[in-house]
Amino acid sequence: MNLINRSFCCARTLRCFHLVVFSLGMLMSLSALAQSKADIVIVTSVKPLELVVKELLGEDLLQHIEIKTLLQGQASPHHFALSVSQARALADADLLLWVGPDFELFLAKIAQSKKTVSFDLAPTQPARETHSTDHHSAHAEDLHLWLSVEQVSTFAQKLSHSLVALQPMWRESVMGRLQQFEQGLAALDRDVLAAFSDFQATGFVVFHEAYGPLVERYKLKQLGRLTEVPDEQISAKRVGQLMHQLKGQAACMLSEVGEAQQASRYAQMLKLPLVNVDILASQMEVDSYSEYMRALTRQIKVCGSATL
Ligand SMILES: [Zn+2]
Repeated sequence: MNLINRSFCCARTLRCFHLVVFSLGMLMSLSALAQSKADIVIVTSVKPLELVVKELLGEDLLQHIEIKTLLQGQASPHHFALSVSQARALADADLLLWVGPDFELFLAKIAQSKKTVSFDLAPTQPARETHSTDHHSAHAEDLHLWLSVEQVSTFAQKLSHSLVALQPMWRESVMGRLQQFEQGLAALDRDVLAAFSDFQATGFVVFHEAYGPLVERYKLKQLGRLTEVPDEQISAKRVGQLMHQLKGQAACMLSEVGEAQQASRYAQMLKLPLVNVDILASQMEVDSYSEYMRALTRQIKVCGSATL
């Protein structure tokens, strides 16, 4: 009985083994097929840029494109290093989409040898005092530029031209999509402005400087910030200064989901409710830039009704 059982097991194991080998082979040929199916491989640094590509190109064109996004989950673009496999993926990519060397320092070197599309930085960046590092001085101007619909529009135009240069036969469809995308952006801009109309009087403080483009365009009432970049040392004196500066007028502190734990300590010291904003779209179930921006707007507006 035992013997029979055992041989049965053996046979089954063997069959399972074959099945595994067979499926692995299938998977491998399938992935090879999937790889060869994409005409263009695009690597993006942060997820909001992937969302721009998706909305710009639409399903038909996306079938021919593979998009890989480097920063996943809670990873911070301020402190990031490429893994070996990511570096390899980048080397094989046709196009790199990123904000630019001042924001994603970790891509600055590899970007020199790639076709890239980046955001336009503010034309004049005054030289800063010697003590500040490049990262900090760069960040003093808010570089979360994908939050600006104007910047995104320019970015989409440059991206469209780069795609057409890679695939000239796509010209008509890409340019048609671009026109649609621009119309969508204009509508988005109006909607976000309308949504913020009853929020413009609500003062808030930010944990790290990240919402500049929104504050500027939609006239939001940012009363202060705790730090320029996350993980910068924050002294008790700084917290005291900020508290004095706020004079009890802030309704909340905004923080990115990835820095919420750190930020919550300071929000407590300032006696402010903490409102989490998913600026990198790390936890959002969205497929387009517009959906992302609308969701972000809702998240920020929670500040108006937040309680301790
Ligand atoms: Zn940031």
